[in-house]
Amino acid sequence: SKTSFKRTKPHLNIGTIGHVDHGKTTLTAAITKVLSAAGGAKFHKYDEIDKAPEERKRGITINAAHVEYETEKRHYAHTDCPGHADYIKNMITGAAQMEGAILVVAATDGQMPQTREHLLLTKQIGVDKIVVFINKADAVDQEVLELVELEMREVLTEFGFDGDNTPIIIGSALQALEIRHEGVTIINYVILKGLEMFHKMLDEGQAGDQLGALLRNVKRDDTRRGMVMCKPGTLDLHNHVEAQVYILAKDEGGRHKPFTSNFSPQMYSYTWDMAAKIELIGGKEMVMPVRCLNYIIFYNLFFD
Ligand code: GDP
Ligand code: MG
Repeated sequence: SKTSFKRTKPHLNIGTIGHVDHGKTTLTAAITKVLSAAGGAKFHKYDEIDKAPEERKRGITINAAHVEYETEKRHYAHTDCPGHADYIKNMITGAAQMEGAILVVAATDGQMPQTREHLLLTKQIGVDKIVVFINKADAVDQEVLELVELEMREVLTEFGFDGDNTPIIIGSALQALEIRHEGVTIINYVILKGLEMFHKMLDEGQAGDQLGALLRNVKRDDTRRGMVMCKPGTLDLHNHVEAQVYILAKDEGGRHKPFTSNFSPQMYSYTWDMAAKIELIGGKEMVMPVRCLNYIIFYNLFFD
């Protein structure tokens, strides 16, 4: 039997729009993945959302896909619109129900024909609440991200949106999707079949052991370098760290140019690395690449 929907918070219809291949479906999947860790969504894999190749093969209409999720404040129905120019009809059908849109633009391309077309359509349909997600931050330099942000603010203004104040979030949908933030919970320890160290069986593993764990129902693709195995509930997840850092000077192999808050470096720790965003603290406005210590907060790009 079906469970009944309990209306406990405001409902909003939103969706992803933007040029084909800029990451709309990846972002949709990533949002469900991240929220599923907090119990706010059922994780929908990329293939469940984008059925386009299959539909194309069968010669049927390419439809917009719908997923639901909730945050602390709101419940959402999210429409993932197809980006191809030929599917504009479906894009309109999808956007017609929207009260707000996430415009996805790949930093690798910047604005493209359907970025503009979708913005225009969204405006004409009457959606004026927009958030821009500059995607693929992992694939470009900081300078490019800054240029794309400037460009997007101009385009928003050109189409009658509030370009100066529209929230623009920079990140990597693919990294957010691939990194298993809920890794601690998805791999259930009841499925650990055995432990080995240097090809010998172990009765018990201890923190720091260089061991191999035989896990049932976990495929190679489910794991990623940097993941941690632990007893459920023993580790907390965090999305930022405060650090004292030494910035290498140019002649030490460091940066040539200074940087400010919002600079997005790749962050490394133990065995993992990911795109991060920094915020300077203690009233500092700029960091020069000279031999000095600085205090910085590193943010996980996707969660800020
Ligand atoms: P859509 O057509 O806008 O729905 O785009 P997709 O979500 O299908 O993504 C298009 C391609 O871009 C796929 O190959 C994705 O794996 C890739 N992609 C999506 N997000 C990112 C990202 O953050 N970084 C990189 N490097 N590639 C991405
Ligand atoms: Mg798509």
